[in-house]
Amino acid sequence: MKNGLKTRILALILALFALISCACGPKKDKGCNGKHVDDDDNGYCDYCTELVLVYFDFYALNDLHGKFSDTDSQPGVDELTTYFEQARQKNPNTVLLASGDMWQGSPESNLTAGNMMTEWMNCVGFVSMTLGNHEYDWGAEAIIANESLADFPFLAINIYDRETNKQVEYCESSVVVELNGVTVGIIGAMGDCYSSIAPDKVEDVYFKTGDELTELVKAESERLRAEEGVEFIVYSLHDGGTSGSVNYRTSYYAITLSRGYVDLVFEGHTHKSYAKPDDEGIWHLQGGGDNDGITYAAARYNVANGNKAVLEAKFIRTNEYYKLPDSSIVNELLEKYKDQISAGDEVLGTTPTWRSSDYLRDVIAQLYYEKGVELWGDQYDIVLGGGYMSARSPYDLEAGEIRYGDLYSIFPFDNNLVLCSIKGSDLSKRFFNTNNSNYYIYYDSYGASIKDNIDANKTYYIIVDSYSSSYAPNRLTEVARYDEPVYARDLLAEYIKQGGLSH
Ligand SMILES: [Zn+2]
Ligand SMILES: [Zn+2]
Repeated sequence: MKNGLKTRILALILALFALISCACGPKKDKGCNGKHVDDDDNGYCDYCTELVLVYFDFYALNDLHGKFSDTDSQPGVDELTTYFEQARQKNPNTVLLASGDMWQGSPESNLTAGNMMTEWMNCVGFVSMTLGNHEYDWGAEAIIANESLADFPFLAINIYDRETNKQVEYCESSVVVELNGVTVGIIGAMGDCYSSIAPDKVEDVYFKTGDELTELVKAESERLRAEEGVEFIVYSLHDGGTSGSVNYRTSYYAITLSRGYVDLVFEGHTHKSYAKPDDEGIWHLQGGGDNDGITYAAARYNVANGNKAVLEAKFIRTNEYYKLPDSSIVNELLEKYKDQISAGDEVLGTTPTWRSSDYLRDVIAQLYYEKGVELWGDQYDIVLGGGYMSARSPYDLEAGEIRYGDLYSIFPFDNNLVLCSIKGSDLSKRFFNTNNSNYYIYYDSYGASIKDNIDANKTYYIIVDSYSSSYAPNRLTEVARYDEPVYARDLLAEYIKQGGLSH
């Protein structure tokens, strides 16, 4: 008789015996002493016939970008709250994690420097949050303040302090959670996105990327297994594929990690939605960002023989939850922070027509120029104002009333106004003749006279914001900085208050 068959017959006899003994008296241990065996991998202990499979669910958000309240086009976090509550009722072995860029991008979130979003994450029970590049938008101080507020750790195995050459203190490499006897480890890492952060916000730190990051993750995976008995490892990375398909061969993920180091990968940063297995069968998931859905994976672990599997992995779209009843948690938080966020409700004026993102950015370039001339025009001949200008969802303004919060959503970044000098050749290449469609500039007659007569070696003066001034390829030298916190949205708000968009 073959061994497998023998075992199965034995298991059957034992199972029958267990049934009989259960019916007629206290259940007796049948030789496994609680150390279950499942050599035939049928999901039941070969001796005591107990179920040895644990099912657990992962839900992840990435790039929520502070989208707290409902808008015309997307649900807020209230429906998400209800959805996660229901998920946990269905399966208590539910893990909620975040893969970065959670705070930046809405009036409620920004006016509280991420505090309200962090508290919401506490309320719904996130177990970890990997830091994204935008978590640095208000500097490390804001991260540290939120870290002390959070009931869960901030993860980034690869953010290092320049001075000490050690991992920064406000980040952990991983977190371990226990799910009905199964130990799950989550390792977090910041992606290769140092250059997308304003340099003055990250001058004290550096990110290990590429092979260095891969080695860190491998070492942490080995440590988790050896020292903490971790059986299932999730990698939560603020980086991802650049198209709907996952392109592992690019720098952000080494396929060698899929050979025994990680069991599931949640990604972020590139705002592309996908759920795909890589060449080794490890699933990679990302949502499109700005609260447009949830990534989900269901997994199973056999506590007797260590076999594990991801049973399902998918992207859950908003239509699966946006009609759910609201949760009271969200209203409680809005009430708690109402003084801080009330600025977002201020009505600034009206616009009779829809205003495109391009239109608004042209206006801001003009306002930069005018403010710059007001501040420094008596000392410098200023050629133009503007620069690289990023806009965020919902990007444009509908006709009707305009609230400060509307502008906050489109232009959330806190970049100061800067007077810079620039060499003629660079002015020509980077500003007058750039083919980057995110550059917006404004100039009047003086700039117009310069435009076609640039002396390549002469020094000129322009007004940009601190993101553009510190962006190395622009080759700008800072001459003076306006220290008042007056950002693009504030200049635009003042313009609207004065009736600038009313006709
Ligand atoms: Zn993002
Ligand atoms: Zn990002």
